[in-house]
Amino acid sequence: VNRAEELLPPDEQARLEVCAQEPIHVPGSIQAHGVLLAVDLSTLEILQLSANVVQVFGASPGSLLGRHLAELVGASCTQALVAVLNGHPEASNPVAVQVAGRWWDAVAHVTDGLGILELEASPVTPEPATSGPHALVPALHAALDELARAASIDELRAEAARQVRRLTGFERVMVYHFHPDGHGEVVAEDRAKGAASYLNLHYPASDIPQQARAIAVRQLSRFILAGEEASPLVPATHPRTGAPLDLSCSQLRSVSSHHLEFMRNMGLRSSMSLSLVARGELVGMISCGDRELRHTPYLVRRSCEVLAQQLALRTAALAETDRLTRALEGRRTRTSLVEQMIGRDDAAAALTDGAVTLLDVLEADGAVVCLDQRLMSVGTPPPTAEVSALAERWLADADADALSPLVSDALSYDVPHLAEVVPSAAGAVLVPFGGDGDYLAWFRREVTQTVDWVGDQSADNRPTPLSPRHSFDLWRQTVSGRSLPWDEVAVQEAVELRRDIDTVLLRRAEARLAHLGLHDALTGLPNRRLLTDRLAHALERHARGAPVAVLFVDLDRFKLVNDSFGHDVGDQLVIKAGHRLQHVTRGADTVARLGGDEFLVLCEDTDTAGADLLAERIIDAFQQPFSVDGRELRVTASVGVTTAQAHHTPADLLREADGAMYLAKGRGRNRVSRFEAGMRYQALRRLDTEQALRAGFARGELTVHYQSIVDLADGATRGVEALLRWERPGHGLVSPDEFIPLAEDTGLIVPVGAWVLDEALRQLHSWKREGTVSRDFYVSVNLSPRQLVDQGLVETTRRLLLEHSAAAAELVFEITETTLMSERSMMTDAVSALADSGVSLSIDDFGTGYSSLAYLRYLPVRQLKVDRSFVRGLPGDRRDAALVAAVVGLAHQFGMTCVAEGVENENQLGYLRRLGCDMAQGYHLRRPLPAAAWARAAACPEPS
Ligand code: C2E
Ligand code: MG
Ligand code: MG
Repeated sequence: VNRAEELLPPDEQARLEVCAQEPIHVPGSIQAHGVLLAVDLSTLEILQLSANVVQVFGASPGSLLGRHLAELVGASCTQALVAVLNGHPEASNPVAVQVAGRWWDAVAHVTDGLGILELEASPVTPEPATSGPHALVPALHAALDELARAASIDELRAEAARQVRRLTGFERVMVYHFHPDGHGEVVAEDRAKGAASYLNLHYPASDIPQQARAIAVRQLSRFILAGEEASPLVPATHPRTGAPLDLSCSQLRSVSSHHLEFMRNMGLRSSMSLSLVARGELVGMISCGDRELRHTPYLVRRSCEVLAQQLALRTAALAETDRLTRALEGRRTRTSLVEQMIGRDDAAAALTDGAVTLLDVLEADGAVVCLDQRLMSVGTPPPTAEVSALAERWLADADADALSPLVSDALSYDVPHLAEVVPSAAGAVLVPFGGDGDYLAWFRREVTQTVDWVGDQSADNRPTPLSPRHSFDLWRQTVSGRSLPWDEVAVQEAVELRRDIDTVLLRRAEARLAHLGLHDALTGLPNRRLLTDRLAHALERHARGAPVAVLFVDLDRFKLVNDSFGHDVGDQLVIKAGHRLQHVTRGADTVARLGGDEFLVLCEDTDTAGADLLAERIIDAFQQPFSVDGRELRVTASVGVTTAQAHHTPADLLREADGAMYLAKGRGRNRVSRFEAGMRYQALRRLDTEQALRAGFARGELTVHYQSIVDLADGATRGVEALLRWERPGHGLVSPDEFIPLAEDTGLIVPVGAWVLDEALRQLHSWKREGTVSRDFYVSVNLSPRQLVDQGLVETTRRLLLEHSAAAAELVFEITETTLMSERSMMTDAVSALADSGVSLSIDDFGTGYSSLAYLRYLPVRQLKVDRSFVRGLPGDRRDAALVAAVVGLAHQFGMTCVAEGVENENQLGYLRRLGCDMAQGYHLRRPLPAAAWARAAACPEPS
């Protein structure tokens, strides 16, 4: 955006354009305070000259044309001048020329194949060496020394003004700095006493038109005496080519009438301007003015050029140093911000409320970061709605590259269609990043600024729009709708910051990915991959003598929770179980999730005793219910423990721990098993077993055995308990304790359970038909908790009863006490529904589940089965005896019958009978037998 267009009145632009057209390099005349000769470079014949040559040579222009140069200035001067024209390294301007007893400074240069010689009166004689031109050298050295002492740009400029005035004697010396729009500002001055100060005043760009600036880059000084009429060139054009003579590099080039008018209006008769050129660009000027004619010899001007060059060079160097310093500071600020971002999860907050904020990167009234559609701010930016609207428009702008920053200190001029949505800000820097609508933004309020111009810029102050100003009285312009300008270096840093943020976010995403690769997505715990690594590492340490223990933890009946309450609840439970494990382990232990409800705890520097202790702690920790989704869930854990041995691989450790855990399941869950050497790996492999069971079920490897339930009063067999068996090829008869937990955990128990029911009812029916058993004979079938929550259970039961022409009263379902207690909330509905269907319910393994006796009263239960662990101690163990007596009493009190399990001898039997226990079951009475064998045995008299 060309600020000149807005800052300056409309005429200024037109003036700039018209002035730029003026052919100031070929004015066809020179200033009359010197004379000009143009010579053919090879013949040294005079081809063109200024009309005022008579002043110097006492001869008319016409008489001198065509003459040889030597005829005018003598042979030795000609030789010196030719050396300059040929660019001889030791030749230098000016050449002192004596004509008719007067000394002249002859300055030579080449233009368009012509040698141009310009003669100005020399103020001093070239001899002796202590005066004249040589006297300037110490003066210049002193000036350069002074300049070298200046430490800042401001000091440099002030010193330069002072030294130029000292060398030249001009009334006023000003240093201009050109702004990007081309207008100049007086940044330093040195002036005669009584002269008004122009410091900090602004000059319009049209005061120095474009082509004048172009010439100024090549010709470093321009000296004007506005005293006499210009002297035309004779002939007006080159006699051979007819071209006008290019006076760009001429010392005496005459001045445009506009400029002369300008000088007149300013009250100046002499002026000298010195170019400040940095990197080939005109960045400023030193401008000298005087109300008197102030002849300034060529050598003085040259000295001033040298000073000006020094000023330009050192200013540029200092500016660059300053820029680098600020960039360095900016980078430090950015680094701090990045560190803050790395240290915090919330990157947006790290940018806005840390020790270092966005406002340290770029000074503003307020700053905003929008990250993932979330806006956070620092300072006082415009209201969120305005900020978002601005960003939305900028990012949506079809012309704007999606990621190009918006930088403006005058939104209403630069981007009016955006400015209307942010009335609260005048300036903004908006840096999009990431490409997802994220951005950083800084805002500044409007600050009304004043610019003091040298002379009113309005039309009233000019005869015509193109004329220079009449009056150069100070004219104050008020600029509104702008904020303070943004510092370019800081803006650069702000833009750089987006790369930093992108990098941090990318790293973070990578880290997240890496984390995901090694961690379980649900619990955030290490996954199998990371665990395997750690196991390997632990085994290396083990090789150097550090004991290593591994605990395999599996939740009991997790499948039940999943199936009853849905996977969300199941997931929550797994997360909480993970937390609980972390809570009971040490920080140095690794708690990993292997999948499903399986966890593994790796403990380094832990021996067998330590591992056992931890395992017990885990079992204890799981006695407390989990609260998930407003429910209290009691889920216990089975733990398998193993310790590292010399030959172990990570896979060995996992397999052994898994095997031990499976053993714990088999032994009744909610307990710890240790891996023991000699355990059959194959038999312990859960996966193997699970697949084999599934296949075995399909192939008919499952059978049902029956065990008599005998009435203690008369010794009659009242019913049988159906007990599942697996005739696993190569393994013999596998006990249900070994595979039912697995079938439960996998859900296979549902079809298997239905099959057992079907089988038992069919058997009962055929025995009744055959007369093997009496009419009121019943079959008792074990129900797993997983079956109890199965929606189809009641329906299946009803259907099978019907199919096998059995009455509901001929079927008893056994549900273990632990099941009823631990999953009470889940079970109540199922139990009631079953009871409603007329099937009797029996509480199996009674005495192990710590039932609340009050609860028992409300259960629609007909039978209690005393767990065999209490029967075993009878009659000697007084505590067992007391317990069994209490259970019998309790059962009768609630109108239930009582069955004693596991009766293995006559003593037990007799004792139970005396206690008044109703029925008994056990090897002493009859072992569980296949149907046919049971029927054969039943035909024989019962062993009393
Ligand atoms: P349970 O329901 O408590 O079954 C009684 C267990 O005690 C049976 O073990 C039986 O063989 C055993 N037993 C009987 N008399 C004696 C004795 O005098 N001494 C000893 N030490 N044990 C005796 P089994 O058949 O190995 O079954 C174990 C458990 O597996 C059962 O315990 C039951 O909870 C479960 N189960 C068996 N069949 C099924 C089934 O079809 N479905 C379900 N869900 N669970 C079943
Ligand atoms: Mg049972
Ligand atoms: Mg039992």
